Amino acid sequence: MSLRELQKLMREIYFERDEKRGISATYIWFISEVGELADALVKGKTEDIAEEAADVIAWLLSLCNLVNIDLEGAVYEKYGGGCPRCYTMPCRCEY
Ligand SMILES: [Zn+2]
Repeated sequence: MSLRELQKLMREIYFERDEKRGISATYIWFISEVGELADALVKGKTEDIAEEAADVIAWLLSLCNLVNIDLEGAVYEKYGGGCPRCYTMPCRCEY
């Protein structure tokens, strides 16, 4: 499944609810899931990390659906040619 197909799936499952909740509340949920991912990373259990990472992507896609952003297109446009700063793969930017 491509990221675009996943975004479409999230739209089919959640768009009605996402639209009622609105952009601000959806963003807060997304950030909350990022926090849960941080907690899972600290605890280090791979199964929990995977579950929280899935939630982060799902909420980000919900947010993108609300603002009509095609995330796959946006990611490809920015990173498809390599690092957007040094234009190489792998990145050769200095830390
Ligand atoms: Zn770079």
